[in-house]
Amino acid sequence: MTDSSVMFGFDLTRVENTRAARKTKMHTFKKSFTQQMPISESAIASAVEVMRTGRLHRYNTVNGELSEADLLDKQFAKYLGVTYCLSCASGGYALYIALLCAGVKQGDAVLCNAFTLAPVPGAINNAGGEPVLLETTEDLTIDLDDLANKIAQSGAKVLLLSHMRGHIADMDAVMAICEHGGVALIEDCAHTMGADWNGKKSGTFGLVSCFSTQTYKHINSGEGGFLVTNNDEVMAKSIIYSGSYMLFDQHPTLPPIETFKDIAKGTPNFSGRMDNLRAAILRPQLAALDAQCERWNQLYRAMEKALSIVNGIRLTQRHANEHFVGSSIQFSLPDFSPEQCAKFVIRCAARGVSVKWVGDSQPSGYSSKYNHWEYLEGFAPLPNTERVLACLIDMRIPLTFDESDADSIAQVISEVLETL
Ligand SMILES: *Cc1c(COP(=O)(O)O)cnc(C)c1O
Repeated sequence: MTDSSVMFGFDLTRVENTRAARKTKMHTFKKSFTQQMPISESAIASAVEVMRTGRLHRYNTVNGELSEADLLDKQFAKYLGVTYCLSCASGGYALYIALLCAGVKQGDAVLCNAFTLAPVPGAINNAGGEPVLLETTEDLTIDLDDLANKIAQSGAKVLLLSHMRGHIADMDAVMAICEHGGVALIEDCAHTMGADWNGKKSGTFGLVSCFSTQTYKHINSGEGGFLVTNNDEVMAKSIIYSGSYMLFDQHPTLPPIETFKDIAKGTPNFSGRMDNLRAAILRPQLAALDAQCERWNQLYRAMEKALSIVNGIRLTQRHANEHFVGSSIQFSLPDFSPEQCAKFVIRCAARGVSVKWVGDSQPSGYSSKYNHWEYLEGFAPLPNTERVLACLIDMRIPLTFDESDADSIAQVISEVLETL
């Protein structure tokens, strides 16, 4: 089934490409939507320095020095204003151990967004939990009434809240609902590194929060992630889970040593450490993060302005308290059928504008549709999520774009919409 639909997809694209070429009057866009900024020379220099020492493993230190991974833990904890940070092998790994630290056991219900990315239900599955999917609002945050109802119905004690595509739910309301229901919050901040809600940084609300430093996120080490918390026991367990052996006391953001009393020998090692090479290229990027986020927001505002005058588009709205990072933009095509949405994506691609249709019935690329993850079962119907995702379009905003690109992209989108 998958093979034939993939082939069908290719054929369609070729037909569309030919058609687009014939209509020479139409605009095309030339830049890549998946091209990252290069790693800075200072980051390259510090990576080379680490390689010269040969000591790439985070615990391979001499004379009490702090390794690059140690320095990164300290730097990110300070950036966020939290007590503890543990750099990890990936964001998905950090989510997995965060769930275990929050007490998730085999068969436990775990609340999470229906609109998210595969590593989120994947982490719950890895921890033995059963995802309870939450409805999605028009503006792509979790539905808070559904949260309250499903806490009551499922008896779940953990909410894994994904700030998906950087959209932040009303965090004051989320916290109140969680406290009332005795639910621990884990934040998935893969898309909100550098963002805040009403002046409080994303990732400082939960019992534990996780970030990703994978290439498509806000700082780039290929693979990587952070787990942050203010809780002694969560940090002690995370350090042991991540594979510290009996070297846990080397950590620069270390809970009181007595916290490890039963934890050090009673917690398995799942080997998910960050190494010094990645840490070395992340530290200069972290120092430049706020400036990068500001640049993203300039590009976002230019894109938003250009798209706001295109007929047929509804831009996702943002709450005034939400200080997001505009590394991607979402809009919907409420008047268009699934067939038209499919054509929209193909015709945009033929003109160099790469967008994702979230509501596609077939999984492709970085699919974010919950029913594409067939191992998930037994969840209630999600009519609002279905309606919202059915006509939702997602577009990356790489830092390699300029503000003037926004008009060219909006021009292509507008022309394509007229052909539907
Ligand atoms: C990227 C991502 C993650 C986890 O990322 P890794 O690739 O495992 O580092 C988690 N949640 C969301 C929403 C993501 O986009």
